[in-house]
Amino acid sequence: MRITADTDKCIGAGQCLFTEPDLFDQSEADGRVVVLNAEPVGELLAQKAREAVYLCPSRALSLAE
Ligand code: SF4
Repeated sequence: MRITADTDKCIGAGQCLFTEPDLFDQSEADGRVVVLNAEPVGELLAQKAREAVYLCPSRALSLAE
């Protein structure tokens, strides 16, 4: 699994960070997403990654399984 973030689409809503702070953070400069761990290992983190992609309001996140 690989997480990709399109920072041009990100509106800094922070939903991904609230969903899984081990995978996502926000830039202190502009509030846009920073992917902390683009290749999560384990089913729990994988599920959280899928949830974050689903919840992102600007469709800035995508997953390659
Ligand atoms: S949930 Fe989407 S729009 Fe919000 S910070 Fe994360 S990537 Fe950006």
